[in-house]
Amino acid sequence: MNSPLRPTRYSTRKRVLVTGGAGFIGSHLCARLLEAGDQVLCVDNFFTGTRGNVAALMTHPEFELLRHDVTFPLFVEVDEIYNLACPASPVHYQFDPVQTTKTSVVGAVNMLGLAKRLKVPILQASTSEVYGDPAVHPQTEDYWGNVNPIGPRSCYDEGKRCAETLFFDYHRQSQVGIKVARIFNTYGPHMHPNDGRVVSNFIVQALQGQDITIYGDGQQTRSFCYVDDLVRGLMALMASPADVTGPINLGNPGEFTMLELAQAVIELTGSASKLVFMPLPQDDPRQRQPDITRAREQLGWDVSVPLRDGLVKTIDYFRGLLAAA
Ligand code: NAD
Ligand code: UDP
Repeated sequence: MNSPLRPTRYSTRKRVLVTGGAGFIGSHLCARLLEAGDQVLCVDNFFTGTRGNVAALMTHPEFELLRHDVTFPLFVEVDEIYNLACPASPVHYQFDPVQTTKTSVVGAVNMLGLAKRLKVPILQASTSEVYGDPAVHPQTEDYWGNVNPIGPRSCYDEGKRCAETLFFDYHRQSQVGIKVARIFNTYGPHMHPNDGRVVSNFIVQALQGQDITIYGDGQQTRSFCYVDDLVRGLMALMASPADVTGPINLGNPGEFTMLELAQAVIELTGSASKLVFMPLPQDDPRQRQPDITRAREQLGWDVSVPLRDGLVKTIDYFRGLLAAA
């Protein structure tokens, strides 16, 4: 029991650091950790995240927000680290590609160094992008990927691959407790309305009656995971036994073409928007679908939110956001 006379640093609550905590996924993770009874230290440089994403948490007595760039060392005392800091949308991570690689690589070194000093577990938000334009479908964790090392997506893909390398080397060399999650396309409230990702683009375009921008012929596929399912997966991975290091795919195996996504968004918003076809960005993966057998077996985790249900919640969020703007 915490007594009022007890110094707060002897609190029995778990202290959890979330880097990138003011971003889309990070803000949901912070909220769920607080609900679970943890103290949360949210660290963010607000490159793509916003105070608005964590506004509802600011009055929570166990929540703390720190402006900090993870490419610089951080000295704090915590019991667990979730490393999510990194822009995730192609438009944002290509804005300053050198900083993107530094965030993934130098940020990983700094956060792993912190985990090593504190002897605490650290979870890395890795990505399906480590598989690149995959030659194996669906993607299993033992597939090494097909990534262009010098293209416009490389700052993100290779940065994340190098971060995985660092995680496994700190684990082997310094016995740091690691958890590597390979996250597939995730969507939901708190996505940035202008971040260029397909779900937010299509919904905002549909709600504003603008043309829906299909890149290429729209036959490329993605598998979309609702953010609540993803955050449950991240927390299950952190709570798993020490020998469960990953890498472990977290995503929704339901696979859709971009044309199918656009039709669903038009139908659910009741929009009169038309489709327009634009050039496919360089190195855009043709298909992507997670094999989540490992997550099911090792974490007892599965997805529960079908695409249409998640889209309805996300549309409601953007409708409110646009009405308030
Ligand atoms: P996001 O852009 O909304 O969040 C990233 C957060 O990191 C932002 O708040 C940003 O301000 C912060 N940040 C960026 N650089 C930083 C730095 N140098 N120091 C401190 N903070 C910094 O993106 P998201 O979708 O929430 O993604 C979160 C994590 O999950 C990222 O690491 C991303 O690579 C990974 N991921 C996301 C997806 C997805 O579909 N959303 C898929 C795969 C992997
Ligand atoms: N895309 C699209 N129209 C848009 C934005 C994206 O057709 O307005 C396509 C994009 O070319 C890609 C897919 O949607 O094939 C997913 O793009 P996103 O940027 O969301 O994620 P990623 O490519 O990183 O998986």
